[in-house]
Amino acid sequence: AIIKNISILGSTGSVGTQTLEVVRANPERYRVVALTGQSNDELLIRQSLEFHPELVVITDEGKYLKVKEALSGKGIRVITGEASLVEAAALTSAHMVLTAVVGSAGLRPTIAAIEAGKDIALANKETLVVAGELITALAKKHAVKIIPVDSEHSAIFQCLVGEEEHSLEKIYLTASGGPFRGKDREFLAGVTKAQALKHPNWVMGAKITIDSASMMNKGLEVIEAKWLFGLAADQIDVIVHPQSIVHSIAQFKDGSMKAQMGLPDMKLPIHYALAYPERVDTKFPRFNFLDYPELTFFPPDPVSFRNLDIAFQAMRKGGNMPCIVNAANEVVVNAFLQDRLGFLEMSDVIERCMSEVPFIGEPGLVNYLETDEHTRIFARQLVTK
Ligand code: NDP
Ligand code: MG
Repeated sequence: AIIKNISILGSTGSVGTQTLEVVRANPERYRVVALTGQSNDELLIRQSLEFHPELVVITDEGKYLKVKEALSGKGIRVITGEASLVEAAALTSAHMVLTAVVGSAGLRPTIAAIEAGKDIALANKETLVVAGELITALAKKHAVKIIPVDSEHSAIFQCLVGEEEHSLEKIYLTASGGPFRGKDREFLAGVTKAQALKHPNWVMGAKITIDSASMMNKGLEVIEAKWLFGLAADQIDVIVHPQSIVHSIAQFKDGSMKAQMGLPDMKLPIHYALAYPERVDTKFPRFNFLDYPELTFFPPDPVSFRNLDIAFQAMRKGGNMPCIVNAANEVVVNAFLQDRLGFLEMSDVIERCMSEVPFIGEPGLVNYLETDEHTRIFARQLVTK
């Protein structure tokens, strides 16, 4: 087989390190050509010494010299600054870019990768939430594939292989419900970040773990699905499924449904995205039905968890509204992680931003970048009050 060259944006994170596990297990298939990290210089250095990429990006400029020194004489180019992510994304030798940075920081590098003709393995859902219309149009123009890494979207993507586009009626995204499933607002008002960081089924980065606890993750995923699969709001439903075995479901116009299942392990959708359209032998543990005699399903609770409705509203409104919601959410999640905001107050701040940051119906890139910045400033003011 031809070796696929992969540039990994956010290699020091949860998805990034799991991607490197997949690469490590399949050296005859994949080669890493670029790695990027933000603050975890030590891990980035270790990864670079093991995988010998051409290019290493440490976005935190204060850590540049340390990384550069550690890798000197190894034939590895080391660069720094947030803008340098774009270089890793557009690197000539890369065939595919796996986007595993967190937040809207992924927007510009993803655009650069698409413009350079790289296929995208997309974990960084915030980029599609912020600018889904722009990103999908650009991918079409450059004939670039966007293959989802997010487990629910990988599930839908897999269900759609071999189907005609007009056959899809609707999708059901499954949600585990997170650590606070079944809790009421009184309970949620007092929860701590330590409680919120304990996800029952997945070990993930801090931001997405809080998003999972607040249901904003599912809200972002609804918008992500809209753009990946070209769906209208009423074609997307969310169903709570605490075991995280059914990763999502596609329903077709004849009434037939396909679900994709498996043990919750991000390495499966990561490897699927890297190998697509092939499937590769793995040694991952296999699902055993008898270990799960009961798979259960519930409706989401819109009273305790308002974020799902907030995301649906933003999606229906369109324009820069999803960008406003995403930026506000990034600020409130940070504040919650620093004990500066209560769990329920996160949705309050997001809603204030939705009503007060200027709406733009048909934004371009500059509008998205400005909206992102303005919303952050406004949300930070609300948090400080
Ligand atoms: P992590 O926080 O674990 O990792 C984020 C990565 O991005 C790290 O390498 C981090 O560097 C880097 N990074 C953080 N901020 C910036 C920035 N401003 N500029 C450049 N690099 C930055 O996140 P996850 O791996 O959990 O998530 C990554 C993305 O994948 C998110 O969009 C998330 O929603 C999505 N996703 C994650 C899943 C999971 O299982 N974790 C599942 C599905 C989707 P450093 O650590 O060195 O500071
Ligand atoms: Mg997901």
